[in-house]
Amino acid sequence: MPNIKLPDGSIKKYKSNVTVADVALDIGEGLARAAIAGKVANKLVDLIYEIKEDVDLSIITSKSPEGIEILRDSTNYLLAAAVKEIFPDAQVATGTVTEDGFYYDFYYKRPFTPEDLVTIQKKMIELSKKDSLIIKKTLLKNQAINLFDAIGESYKVKTLKLNKNSEEISLYGLDKFIDISNGPYISKTGKLKIFKLMKVAGAYWQGDSKNEMLQRIYGTAWFSKEELNEYLAQLEEAEKRDHRKLGKQLDLFHLQDDAPGMVFWHPKGWAIWLEVEKYMRKMLMEYGYEEIKTPTVLDKNLWEKSGHWETYQENMFTTSSENREYAVKPMNCPGHVQIFNKQLHSYRDLPLRLAEFGSCHRNEPSGALHGLFRVRGFTQDDAHIFCTEDQIKEEVKTFNEMLYKSYADFGFKDILVILSTRPEKRIGSDKIWDKSEKSLEDALKETGLDYSTQSGEGAFYGPKIEYTLKDSLGRLWQCGTIQLDFNLPGRLGAEYIAEDNSRKIPVMLHRAIVGSMERFIGILIENYAGLMPIWLAPIQVIILNIAESHIKYAKEVQNILTKNNIRCNSDLRNEKITYKIREHSIQRIPYLLVLGDREVEKEQVAVRTQKGEDLGSMSIKDFVKYINDAIESKV
Ligand code: ZN
Repeated sequence: MPNIKLPDGSIKKYKSNVTVADVALDIGEGLARAAIAGKVANKLVDLIYEIKEDVDLSIITSKSPEGIEILRDSTNYLLAAAVKEIFPDAQVATGTVTEDGFYYDFYYKRPFTPEDLVTIQKKMIELSKKDSLIIKKTLLKNQAINLFDAIGESYKVKTLKLNKNSEEISLYGLDKFIDISNGPYISKTGKLKIFKLMKVAGAYWQGDSKNEMLQRIYGTAWFSKEELNEYLAQLEEAEKRDHRKLGKQLDLFHLQDDAPGMVFWHPKGWAIWLEVEKYMRKMLMEYGYEEIKTPTVLDKNLWEKSGHWETYQENMFTTSSENREYAVKPMNCPGHVQIFNKQLHSYRDLPLRLAEFGSCHRNEPSGALHGLFRVRGFTQDDAHIFCTEDQIKEEVKTFNEMLYKSYADFGFKDILVILSTRPEKRIGSDKIWDKSEKSLEDALKETGLDYSTQSGEGAFYGPKIEYTLKDSLGRLWQCGTIQLDFNLPGRLGAEYIAEDNSRKIPVMLHRAIVGSMERFIGILIENYAGLMPIWLAPIQVIILNIAESHIKYAKEVQNILTKNNIRCNSDLRNEKITYKIREHSIQRIPYLLVLGDREVEKEQVAVRTQKGEDLGSMSIKDFVKYINDAIESKV
């Protein structure tokens, strides 16, 4: 006779066992309709879970944070059931929920086609309309293995054999279809209505390229049609902004198979790079950094001392010469310590801030590479601050200020800040962890930043703060970081003479603002859909003549703009002016100057923006001032 305590503290008494669905209905019809699962004693359960004893219960609906994942997990199950109905000889492998949907892997004798996806989606709708029950059952592992063996699901047998943890296996059945899952699932298929299968792609069993290729079907599911449509529209917008596509269309960069994950920057893309670099360099100088450059290829010996050879070797490119082994640097830190060590430092020299646009290489799996976002060769706006324990707070505060100013100038105002604190496995005394975590916290508080804390997520060698920016599509990109390190300076023999004349190991702060230059430029391209703010635009102004008689004047204008450091180009082809305007607007050039008889006569320029605004005619001098003001104010 269970007494059930609800989240508002009230208690419902029942004379016999009840299901979660019964309780929901008891509370109200509306809730019963909205209910998708329950949380009994803090564990998620199906709606048809039977409550036999006194427990705390909350009803999970579409509004609960757990709701969407349960919906997607359940829809993924429906997908597997539909595939088995249409292709009885397909093998069901494993599936999972992703950030915005789900996928399921199948083995089939031929690849699934887009037409197959349409058929499978239809079958899913059919199964949904039947409004059947998805029922949970528990079996011992051996029984489950025998069951899947008998119905010929070899991947399920493999999965169960790999599962060393539990002896009891939870299964879900829908008519003849059975799958392994801890659930919970939405118990009635009728509630799985708003979904879309997105694509199919190859995927190796267990992600290992030595294994056979499976067919991965991706889908998404939402609680309302509006949410689904909004998601699809956002996806379409993101596709239009895809930096790989725009990189080609705007002639910014390319990648080719001769150098996987390493970028060929074209003049226009490199112009963006140089502007970003110039800006960051200016900030570094303003904030008291000194710029250095360290070697790309360093002896294995140094990587052994730094610990990278032991823990990071498989991500490093190596080479040898004259019987010595070398590695291409995957990070700049050990090199910076070498420069620190070349001088005897006193506490008066600290903090010492060494910055490098450091070109690093990491041997990422080729399958994981993705445009500018995931590369093998990248350049960090890296810097290391060597300081005393007492200086940490002030350094972090100043870094926060520098980071926020930089992001704002690049057009990012919305920043998420996360502080990660000591993990279980760590080096360094509790005293130093206490002190440094407090320094980071105080620095965040004194800067007036909202932040969240991830306990236990710091590195083994120190706590860190990570900065994630939100782009114009609401997507999140972690770029900035500041990380304390109690390990590396000691390992590499860095020390300074303290005030009491003792030798001490400095604290090292690793920090970056844009992170990888490549990735950051990719983010900028997508954020602005290729139409860069004027200060970053590779070509800021295009000069267009209406007729041949205006060519001479056009060349004069170009000359003057170039002399005033404005990146400009001219299109003097014998084409219709409307055609030229359209072409260069598509090329995302912010300002277009149109020169005709009137302009030549008055020594003026007629100014249009890429978005089609007509700014009227002005003198060349006024235009130069106008552009330079716009560049200065970073709009
Ligand atoms: Zn570092």
